[in-house]
Amino acid sequence: MGNNRLAGALSTHRISVPPPPALDAPPVDTRPDLLASFLSDAAHVAGGFAVGIAFPHAAADVSALVASAPRVLPIGAQSSLTGGATPRGELLLATRGLTGVTLQSRTTVRVGAGVPLVELQRELATHRLYYPPVPTFDGAFVGGTISTNAAGAATFKYGSTRQWVERITVVLADGGILTIHRGETSASADGRFELTYPSGRVVRVPVPTYRMPDVPKLSAGYYARPGMDLIDLFIGSEGTLGIVVEATLRVIPLPRRAFVLVTCDSDQQALALAAALRRESALRWHDDGPLDVAAIEYIDDQSLAHLPDDAFIRASFPRPAPAAVILLAQLDVTYDETATIERLGAVLASCGVQTDPLVALPGDVDASARLVELREGVPAAINGLIAAATARVHPHIEKTAGDFIVPFDRLGAALTLYRRTFERHGLDYAIWGHLSDGNLHPNVVPRSLDEMHRGRAALLEIARGVIAMRGAPLAEHGVGRSVLKQQLLLELYGEGGIEEMRAVKRALDPSWKLAPGVIFAAP
Ligand SMILES: Cc1cc2nc3c(=O)[nH]c(=O)nc-3n(C[C@H](O)[C@H](O)[C@H](O)COP(=O)(O)OP(=O)(O)OC[C@H]3O[C@@H](n4cnc5c(N)ncnc54)[C@H](O)[C@@H]3O)c2cc1C
Repeated sequence: MGNNRLAGALSTHRISVPPPPALDAPPVDTRPDLLASFLSDAAHVAGGFAVGIAFPHAAADVSALVASAPRVLPIGAQSSLTGGATPRGELLLATRGLTGVTLQSRTTVRVGAGVPLVELQRELATHRLYYPPVPTFDGAFVGGTISTNAAGAATFKYGSTRQWVERITVVLADGGILTIHRGETSASADGRFELTYPSGRVVRVPVPTYRMPDVPKLSAGYYARPGMDLIDLFIGSEGTLGIVVEATLRVIPLPRRAFVLVTCDSDQQALALAAALRRESALRWHDDGPLDVAAIEYIDDQSLAHLPDDAFIRASFPRPAPAAVILLAQLDVTYDETATIERLGAVLASCGVQTDPLVALPGDVDASARLVELREGVPAAINGLIAAATARVHPHIEKTAGDFIVPFDRLGAALTLYRRTFERHGLDYAIWGHLSDGNLHPNVVPRSLDEMHRGRAALLEIARGVIAMRGAPLAEHGVGRSVLKQQLLLELYGEGGIEEMRAVKRALDPSWKLAPGVIFAAP
């Protein structure tokens, strides 16, 4: 970070945009059978449509396509849970052809935006390296994760995508190709950036003045802080300000990893154990004690009730008693393995955990995969129920879920708020997520269209409580085109805040060409 400080001292709020390369745009495919497989993302919102799709292989191709089309939606793996990667009549710009992984040193890698994280990790693993800020879905593309500032289970230890991006190349709405190095361009004292063009044109971009909640992960519209780095404006902007074509990411030595599955007899016990494990990790990071916990995942009793028996049989883990909850802890074994496991046992005992944990030691790939599969079975089971309701009850029934984060010490109050609100509205629900970050996903399980609407009202009510706890209702999935999530953004920053975001958009994309309607409504 020393170099960053030096760069910060030399940083300016101006950056020059080179003229776009004058190239012919690659072909646009309009075949309906091909388009059909790109009209929806993981939010499964119906009614997507597109004028065509193109598969560029280089920044210059992206530039030519952007210059030639009135409306463009960049897409990665379309694993968005917000409808942000579902087209509404744009040209789809599929980034999968933007490939390439080049290791630059033991600490940085240069990657194309269309590289899936699983492929990046595979390549890094051959050099015993690792890219830490991975979302639960590792098929997501590098460009998609930068655009949503994705974060996963291990944010408590490693932070979100933002902290790992050193450089990006983006194609702007006018086709200009801009490379931004962290530490080189920061906002002026009066809160703006200036993009200068060879023609003498100057684009002034105002930095919004709203105050972002102080939480470990946030994907709630544009990043804004006094003196902020320009790169941070594009990270998390969900394709609305520029199309990421390439990035330089920081990497670390590949950790030795163990997983531990623990049954707790109540939420209170789970929270006490998570707090104890977080304290142990803080000690380890100060070189004191053996236990290094990178992530703690939580699965509540309602979620467990929806898991089929064979999920437990495959994991070789007995189905817990009805009121019990499960924690899945990910340990980075950075100290002696035996001492680590012994200390874990002592912490479990000190929290009164009665049942034996199931441990997958480093190197036991099959056992680790079985435990992770149990965790992944939860969203799969709930999504299956929703898909069945959509098919059998009403075609407009959709996933209705929160992505809330609160400071860790407010988690107990937050869990009570989630449960009481759903129960007061008479809704079936399931809660799971990244407990060590204070980031949980309360999901409504709607059995009718009316329950889905009541679920949305409940989530809005919960969001207000979360904001009052100094948390955020948009932690990692972004805002996208979800009506509910756009409403939550409004709750967080107010109309004034949204208008400040619109001012950024107007400066960089005056004709609302890129991802229109994502984050906030298009004019
Ligand atoms: C099972 C499952 C688990 C998930 N778990 C997590 C999790 O733990 N944490 C988390 O953060 N997310 C999670 N997600 C959500 C999703 O994986 C992330 O939002 C991911 O970052 C999206 O990447 P993608 O490549 O699929 O992007 P897409 O879904 O294709 O696009 C997402 C948004 O980014 C824009 N975009 C895509 N590529 C670019 C680009 N190159 N340049 C500019 N804009 C672009 C799109 O226009 C869209 O607005 C999960 C999703 C699923 C299905």
